[in-house]
Parts: sequence; C-alpha cells; structure tokens
Amino acid sequence: MGLPVHTKILSADAPGFAAAAAILRDGDLVAFPTETVYGLGGDARNDMAVARIFEAKGRPHFNPLIVHVNSVDMARNFVEWTDEADILAQAFWPGPLTLVLPLKANSELSPLVTAELPTLAIRVPAHPVAQALLAAFDGPVAAPSANPSGRISPTTAEHVRSGLSGRIAAILDGGRCAVGLESTILGLADGPKLLRPGGLPAEAIEAALHGPVPVRGSDDPLSSPGQLASHYAPDAQVRLNARNKREGEVLLGFGPVEADLNLSPAGDLTEAAANLFRYLHQLDSEGRGTIAVSPVPDHGIGRAINDRLRRAAAPRD
Ligand code: AMP
Ligand code: MG
Repeated sequence: MGLPVHTKILSADAPGFAAAAAILRDGDLVAFPTETVYGLGGDARNDMAVARIFEAKGRPHFNPLIVHVNSVDMARNFVEWTDEADILAQAFWPGPLTLVLPLKANSELSPLVTAELPTLAIRVPAHPVAQALLAAFDGPVAAPSANPSGRISPTTAEHVRSGLSGRIAAILDGGRCAVGLESTILGLADGPKLLRPGGLPAEAIEAALHGPVPVRGSDDPLSSPGQLASHYAPDAQVRLNARNKREGEVLLGFGPVEADLNLSPAGDLTEAAANLFRYLHQLDSEGRGTIAVSPVPDHGIGRAINDRLRRAAAPRD
C-alpha cells in the first residue's frame, strides 16, 4: 500500500466531471456511480492505474476487471465483435449487461485488466454520471466495484468513502444506484453462457437471442475467474431462507413479513435488488449478531439477489 491520500468528494457537475477525468488521465483512481453499483475507475491502458485498482481493493490479480466504454464503436476497438454481441448491445446497451468477447490483438489495454486472459469483459453503463465521466475522459475505464475485495458492494458514495477513503484520489457523488446489483456477465467467446447473474435478468437475454442461455458450470474455471464462493461478506453471519427470526438475529425481510428491514414489503424483486446491499451495509454497521433473510423467489433479478445472498452466507476463509 502506498502513502495514504486525501480522498476528494467531487460533485456530479461539469467541474466535477472535468476534475475526475483529469485524475484518470494522471493515472489515479476515481470512484463513480453506475446504475449497478459504484465503480472504482482507472485508465484501462495505464498499467500503473490498473495496478492501483488491485492495490486499493486488495483484489487478487487473477480476478480480471470490467472495462467501461461510452459506445459500441469504442467497444469494437478492444474486442472481436460478433452478430450476437450486436443484437445484445442494440437491445441492452447502455445498461447492466457485460459481454465477454475475444480481446483484439494490439488493443493497447493493460494486460493486468484481463488477468492475461484472451478475453475481455466490457460494457456501456447507463448512469448519466458514468456517461458524463466517460465522455470527459474519452477512453476505456477499468472499473470493478468500489469496495475492499470480498466486502459488500457500494451503492452510495458514503459506502465508498467508508471502505476506500485514504486509498483513492476521489469519489464522484451521484447519489444512490438505481439497480443496486452488479451487471449480468455473459460469455460470448464460445456460444452464449451466463457467467454471473446480475442486474439484467437472464430471461431478457434469452428472449433477445431466441434461445436458452446455459449457466457456467462450476467445473468451468476459466470461464469466470474470481467468482469466489465467499464474497459480498458482511461482518455478521447470514442465515438464508429464514421463515422467522431466532434469538439474537435481525430479520431482513422480503414480502409481507414483520422484519427489522424489508427489501420489498410488496414483494417487488426490482425494489429488493436496489435495497439489498444498502440494507446489508446498514444491518452490518449496527453490528447485531446474525442477519436472517427471508426467502426470495429465484427468477428474474431474484436469481442475482440469491446469488449474492449465497455468497454473503458462505463459509469464510
Ligand atoms: P467486478 O468488477 O468486481 O464486478 O468483477 C468482475 C468479474 O467479471 C470478475 O470477477 C470475473 O468473474 C468477470 N470477468 C472479468 N473479465 C472476464 C473475462 N475476461 N472472462 C470471464 N470473466 C470475466
Ligand atoms: Mg466486485
């Protein structure tokens, strides 16, 4: 870890975007809101900047990063584009879908970004602040979630500050993230394959491609490195599919149940996704024993919610 830095909070306006773009050009890091979660951005062509991302997060180097660009045209500079990519980009970009495609030769990206894989994960984010930053910077931004590795992802600037203050140059404050879960990652290098459920339901991808999208097999290590079993871990223990609250527990509810906090009293999965990480942060900071969580239906964005909850509940190293 280098010397501590003073982490500036930048406002989401023209001077803030210009300052954030200047920080990226200098090879330093700036956290910024996307519609999924806050990202920790660095210039994807600059080895030092990318190395700083791994260092600030304490992220293992075998875990590759997603590159954010502001258009399909820019994406095509870095990956071998395909017809399927075109259909999906037309339908879902800008938005919470990451495509994994063969990396182009001489792409000029830092090899650290892809953890030296022959493929690159890339997306065009929809959040207006992310778009304004990408426009001001006019280049590819590598950006994992802006949290210490293994912890709950940030959906507010305050979450970023509490996790990474003193380790990054600045945070662009754009309020709360609307989707609240990371992007869906779809492998396209070798037929469509769901590598990580996320903010875009897999059902929507299947409808656009007119066919089923198989899920990555657990015996398929190359296809999505870094998807560790224990992740999104709060300090508290987590108990899943809780029908009631036991002694010493707080209940994170879903649907019409009496709970300490409720992801969506109306049983709306989109609302639950948007609240999930914020409520986990909140219950965790109150430091109250075990967090019990109501069952969440396993369809649409509920699949991504259950994926994150299973990782939050998994045994820790
Ligand atoms: P994060 O940036 O924290 O949302 O994590 C990005 C995730 O994207 C990684 O943990 C990988 O699982 C996945 N990923 C990134 N690049 C690739 C790639 N080239 N091939 C497969 N999966 C990737
Ligand atoms: Mg992450």
